[in-house]
Amino acid sequence: AVLVTVPLGVLKAKTIKFSPSLPEWKRAAIERLGFGPIEKVVLLFSSTFWDADADFFGITMPDSTPEEDYVSQRGEFFLFWNMHRSHGLPALLCISSGMFADKTWRQHSYKGVVNKAMAALKRTFGSQVNACFKRSVVSDWGKNPYARGSYSFVGLEGSGRDYDELAEPVGTRVFFAGEHTNGQHPATATGAFLSGLREAQRIDEAARGGVDPSCSCY
Ligand SMILES: Cc1cc2nc3c(=O)[nH]c(=O)nc-3n(C[C@H](O)[C@H](O)[C@H](O)COP(=O)(O)OP(=O)(O)OC[C@H]3O[C@@H](n4cnc5c(N)ncnc54)[C@H](O)[C@@H]3O)c2cc1C
Repeated sequence: AVLVTVPLGVLKAKTIKFSPSLPEWKRAAIERLGFGPIEKVVLLFSSTFWDADADFFGITMPDSTPEEDYVSQRGEFFLFWNMHRSHGLPALLCISSGMFADKTWRQHSYKGVVNKAMAALKRTFGSQVNACFKRSVVSDWGKNPYARGSYSFVGLEGSGRDYDELAEPVGTRVFFAGEHTNGQHPATATGAFLSGLREAQRIDEAARGGVDPSCSCY
């Protein structure tokens, strides 16, 4: 038996060749279910200029933002975790996701990405952001060939049923696990873990002579 646990982004990229090829219903589910980015930027400063006691804070769009830009800029650096609380460092961890992260990470260098995170901070904290800046680290799950994104989502063309189809074995030998195969706990480490237990049970059943369809309930 083979248990395929690569991320949905890797399945979408078709870098793994299945022979014979996967059936149409499986390929269609791989195509339909979304796999999107969530990226992080860590900014290290010489000192804190934000509320050092807060766990995190958010930054909203300026009041002057035109209505149509809310959609294109949704997911722009909106959440900042205070690493002074967690690590005792004057650093912020900023999160970007969705269409904004996808576009920004594809179109900009890491320096450009950092500039955008800094610009969001400057809207609230002004020139002290530049004055205190020391170093940055940028994640890039989208470009990582073993991830090609962060986690699954139900896009406009998808539905919860796609998770079940992604979990479905092909014949009695090719099995699938991973967060994208767990419609009840998608996009989480918990979901991925439970899907592994589910498939262990299924492979055990198959080895005993039959796949148990009832065990897709995790
Ligand atoms: C920024 C970020 C924050 C997150 N925060 C949380 C959180 O707070 N809580 C939470 O529960 N979840 C969180 N998640 C989601 C969670 O990390 C994932 O849902 C979970 O790790 C998915 O597990 P998986 O086993 O399906 O895939 P992965 O953990 O991605 O494992 C897939 C494995 O396949 C390997 N692989 C890929 N291609 C190949 C290949 N061709 N050949 C061999 N091996 C290959 C990869 O190297 C990887 O080891 C977060 C994810 C991201 C990106």
